[in-house]
This record gives sequence, structure tokens and C-alpha cells, in this order.
Amino acid sequence: MKEELNVSINEIFHSIQGEAKNSGKPTVFIRTAGCPFRCTYCDTEYAFTEGKQVKISEIISKVKSYDTNYVTVTGGEPLAQTNIKVLLTTLLENLFKVSLETSGLVDICDVPQGVEIVMDIKTPSSKENDKNIKSNLSLIKNNDVLKFVIGNKSDYEWSKKYIIENNLTLFKNIYFSPVHENLELSEIADWILRDRLNVTLQLQLHKYIWGNERGR
Ligand code: SF4
Repeated sequence: MKEELNVSINEIFHSIQGEAKNSGKPTVFIRTAGCPFRCTYCDTEYAFTEGKQVKISEIISKVKSYDTNYVTVTGGEPLAQTNIKVLLTTLLENLFKVSLETSGLVDICDVPQGVEIVMDIKTPSSKENDKNIKSNLSLIKNNDVLKFVIGNKSDYEWSKKYIIENNLTLFKNIYFSPVHENLELSEIADWILRDRLNVTLQLQLHKYIWGNERGR
């Protein structure tokens, strides 16, 4: 019985999606535990070690209790979980609109087609950027999202170059997400306008509503 399989879960909570295309929508977040990486700007370090095995059937019941269509599987790094594909497939079978937030440092080839991927291309200030898996770019679908976390001007310039070098200038779902409180929003907005970049400036809406409060 696939629903008896477990996934290591850090937390499941109901909040407002603060990022990417569904920003502002009530969403259930399933945060898996554990991540093999250590980005300098990680804001979910508590998920590295805090987690417990939860049956997929129990996860689905909990998600259903919030009575919302949107589900985001996040981490940690969800794709580091053995049974993540089963969880994603089961969510789709239950007719949820499912997005998956992944680091881009793990192969996405096994992610079910119906899942919207939000892939974080690691920028230099993460100190994990040399682990970006380039072949993942060829698996990105038109409705998926590429996110660049911008910690400083060098990250911005690196991201701009990465977009050009990888022929992504026409891809419509690229989000630049400044590290909250590290950069003046007007500064990064000016850079984007000056360079005529075809990207969306992403404000982490949940942080404007609740700050760094956990489970929000
Ligand atoms: S991949 Fe994500 S969860 Fe892992 S360290 Fe980086 S930001 Fe944190």
C-alpha cells in the first residue's frame, strides 16, 4: 500500500503563499525534513534535523483538513526524500494543485509531470552554486518557475549572465528574490529596469505579513 509509506516531515501548515505565481493564495505547505546542502542564506535551518516519519495517508488527511486547493511541498530539500515521488503523485491523484520547491541541486527527472516545479538556481552568495545541475534546465516545463535568490550585486550580475548563457531570456517565469532585508528593493528594481531584464521581482509576501515567524 503506497499510502502506508512514510515521508520525513518537519511541519505541515496553512498559510499565504508568499512566492512565485501563486503568491497571495491560501496554501498548505508540507515541509520535509533534512537537506544535504548548506546555503549561507538558508532560512529553514530548523528543518535540517527536526522531523518525524509520517505516513502518506496521514499527510493527505492533514492537508485535506485545511480545505484548500493549493499545496506546496517544500523543505529542506524534498527531493532528498525516498518516497517523495509517491507523495507528489498521491497529492495529484487527490486533485490538489501541487508545486514543489527544490534547490536545483538534485535531479528533477522523477518529478511527476503534473507538479509545478519552483527551482532555486543557487547564486554565488549561497556558496552552493557550483552544485547547480545544468541538465535540470532541459526538464523545466513552460509553466514551471526558476528562482534566483539575490543576496548582493554580484549575485544579480551572476544571475543575469546565467540567464543569457543558458538561453533563458525568453522564459517567462523567472523570479528574482532579494534576500529579505539585505538589499534595498528600489536598488534591485532599478537594476532590472536598467538592464531590461525579462524577470519578475519577487517580494516574499509572507515575510512582510509575519516576519520570520515559523510555520507562516
Ligand atoms: S537547499 Fe534550501 S533547505 Fe537546503 S540549505 Fe539551501 S536553502 Fe536551505
